[in-house]
Amino acid sequence: MIKEKTAAAELKELDKKHFFHPTSSIKQQQQSGPAFIFTEGKGIYLYDESGTKVIDGMSSLWNVNVGHGREELGEVAKEQMAKLAFSSSFASFSNEPAIRLAAKIAEIAPGDLNAVFFTSGGSESNDTAYKLARHYWVVKGQPQRQKIISRSKSYHGVNVGATSATGLKPFRDFTNSLAPDFCYVDHMSPDALRARIEQEGPETIAAFIAEPVQGAGGVHVAPENYFKEIRSICDEYGILFITDEVITGFGRTGKLFGIEHYGVVPDMMCFAKGVSSGYAPLGGVVFSQALYEELGELSTGTLLHGYTYSGHPMACAVALKNIDIIEREKLADNAEKRGVDMLNGFEEIKAANPIIRAVRGLGLMGAIEFHSQESADGPLAPRVLAEAAKRGLICRAVVLEGQDILVFSPPLVITNNEMQEMLHILQASVYAVEQSLQ
Ligand code: PLP
Repeated sequence: MIKEKTAAAELKELDKKHFFHPTSSIKQQQQSGPAFIFTEGKGIYLYDESGTKVIDGMSSLWNVNVGHGREELGEVAKEQMAKLAFSSSFASFSNEPAIRLAAKIAEIAPGDLNAVFFTSGGSESNDTAYKLARHYWVVKGQPQRQKIISRSKSYHGVNVGATSATGLKPFRDFTNSLAPDFCYVDHMSPDALRARIEQEGPETIAAFIAEPVQGAGGVHVAPENYFKEIRSICDEYGILFITDEVITGFGRTGKLFGIEHYGVVPDMMCFAKGVSSGYAPLGGVVFSQALYEELGELSTGTLLHGYTYSGHPMACAVALKNIDIIEREKLADNAEKRGVDMLNGFEEIKAANPIIRAVRGLGLMGAIEFHSQESADGPLAPRVLAEAAKRGLICRAVVLEGQDILVFSPPLVITNNEMQEMLHILQASVYAVEQSLQ
C-alpha cells in the first residue's frame, strides 16, 4: 500500500514537471499536477491509481462510443500490428484494413458519400476538407473561390485551418494570427448565411462547414429545417457543403450520422473520434461520388496532400471492429433511448433547481445551462463539475462567450440503471451548489 502511494506521488511529480497537457491551465498543471491518473476503464467507468471509480460522463472526449475495456479491439490491434504494423498509402500503395474500412464507411455514410480520405484525427480532417474544397475550385477554373464560411459557437479543432474556422472566438484570439479567407455566420440562421454570401460575393466562397449538433460550443441543436435550407442555399450559389461529424458520427446522436436527422446529404463529411472509439487515433473525410469523380477528371498532377498515417493499417483494423460492435450491439438505437432518459432526467433536475435556466440535447449529447450570468456568484458550471467529481461523475464545463453550461456525452453502451446513477449524482451536485448560494 505504502509502495503504491509512493508510486502515485512520483507519477504526480513527474507529470507536473514533464507532461505539458493539452487544453489545460498551464499554471494549474505545473502547481497542482493531475487530479486523476487513470489506470483502467470498463464500460462507462474509469478507475484511477488509487482505485477511485468515476462515471466517464463525456466518453472521455466525446469519443469512447463503445465504452472502455473492449478486449476484442485490443486483440485486433495486436493481430494487425504483428502482421503489418505500418505501410504507406501514398501514391499506389495500399493495405487491406484501409481498403475495407473505406468501403465500410462508404456503405454506412448517407447518400452518395463514397470516397474516404484518411487522417489521424478531427483537426486534420477539417484542414483536409478546406484544402481539398479550395483545390477543387482551383482545378475547376474558379481559383478565386477560397473563402470558407463557418458558424458562431462552432469548434473544428486546433490546426491553423481548423482554428481559423472555429466560431468560438477565444480559440481564434489565442494566437493573434489566423489563416486568411475564413468568415462566420450566426449558428442558427440560414438567412445569415445568405446575407454573408451576398456580402462577400458568391464567386469568392468555396464552402460552408457546420457540425450537425454543435458540441464543444455548448451542445446547440439546429432547428428542424435548418440544414434543408442550408443545403438549398449552398446549391443555389454552387457552394460546397461540408459537415463536421467528428462528434456526431458513429451513433452519438441516435443515428449513425448526425446529419441524418435533417434528411440532407453534404458534399464532404469530416469524421474522427467515434470511428475508432478512441482505441486508435483515426479520422477522415468522406467525399460524394460526384465530387470524387470530378476531382479525378479535372486533376492532372499529384494530389499534394497526405499524412504519413493516412490509412494506418492498425488504426483502420481497430475502426472496422469498432463499427462492427456499434452495429452488432445497436448502439445508435441505445443512444436514442438513453438520450431520451437523459433529457427527461435533466428536465426533472431543472424543475427542482431554479439555478438551471435550460436543458437540451440530442441522443447522448446533452447540456444543462445555468442562470449565473444574472448572479454575482460567477459561473456555476465549474462548481457543479467539482461537486460531481467528488461524487464520482466527470463531465465538462463550457464557460465561453457568456455561456455557463455543463455538457454530457456518456458512452453509447450506458444502461438505464447507469443513466439513473449519473442523473442522481448530477442532482446531488446541482443541489449542493444551490444550497451554497443561500
Ligand atoms: N471537430 C469537432 C466537431 C470536434 O469536436 C473536434 C474535437 O473535439 C475536432 C473537430 C478536432 O478533433 P481532434 O481533437 O481529433 O483534432
